[in-house]
Amino acid sequence: MLVFGHAGLTLGAAVVLDGVVSRVRAAPTAASEQPQRSLLRRVDLRVLLVGSLLPDLVDKPVGWLFFDCGRVFCHTLLFCLLISLGAFWVWRHSHGTWGFALAFGSFLHLILDSMWDYPSTLLWPLYGLEFKRPEDGDWVDAALQGLCTNPAVYVPEAVGLAILVGFLLVLVRRRKLQAFAGSGRFE
Ligand SMILES: [Zn+2]
Repeated sequence: MLVFGHAGLTLGAAVVLDGVVSRVRAAPTAASEQPQRSLLRRVDLRVLLVGSLLPDLVDKPVGWLFFDCGRVFCHTLLFCLLISLGAFWVWRHSHGTWGFALAFGSFLHLILDSMWDYPSTLLWPLYGLEFKRPEDGDWVDAALQGLCTNPAVYVPEAVGLAILVGFLLVLVRRRKLQAFAGSGRFE
């Protein structure tokens, strides 16, 4: 999956998750409690979007330079575990939620990349320290070809782009674009 697919689908997943959590919190048993703020208002969505791309932002250049492979350290469960521990540490010490946004975005990146198809990378270093080059060859060529011919590539990109454009239009229509750029919150 490429940029628009990762960023847009991660944002869409966050909106859906926010809707589910809001419904659970609005259950009758919680009616007497103080109303909770929406997740989208508590999490920096700019960081979430960075997290959605973080594994590729790191691994593409590092993999190119040192491993001849575009999915290395940041496409592993170990990376997700470490970044989640870091997020928890940040929350414990400063109550900041940006670490969770980064971890959630990165974890979803691995799911959207179907990393279970590459167990030696996903479970690195259990299968050894080396990163295996994917059999589909150069990822840039594969991505460009897939964008033109493979629905599994261009459909997620189109859906992700539609979500991003829709989110942008909502911000513009509500005159919240500047506030969002400053805070990352969907107020
Ligand atoms: Zn990736």
